[in-house]
Parts: sequence; C-alpha cells; structure tokens
Amino acid sequence: MILLDTEPDPVEEAAYGYCRRCECECVFVRRDQGIGRFEYHGSKEIHVDMRDCCATCGDEL
Ligand SMILES: [Zn+2]
Repeated sequence: MILLDTEPDPVEEAAYGYCRRCECECVFVRRDQGIGRFEYHGSKEIHVDMRDCCATCGDEL
C-alpha cells in the first residue's frame, strides 16, 4: 500500500518581495507581530497581527 502525503507543508508561508534594507529581492515570511493574550472587559482575547518580514534581515515589508 502506498500512502500519498497530500497535506500542505506546515512551514511558514514564504513569498518574494523587494527589501529596502537588503536592496534586493528577498524571501519574506509571515510573522505574528501581535501583542498576544490580553484581557478586555473581563474577556480573554488574543491579538494577532500578521506582517510580512524579510527572512534575511527581519525588516517589515
Ligand atoms: Zn532584508
């Protein structure tokens, strides 16, 4: 029996974009810049803020 792995790759999404700091096309990764868990009027919330960042220098796109 042959098992085919059809699951998408679980690694971070990668994209290409121009990085002004590196001054070239770089791989960008999605990073969570959110503040994480916080409480608002007694209810627990999680702040998530996904940004595209350069994989080389970490600068925001
Ligand atoms: Zn860069």
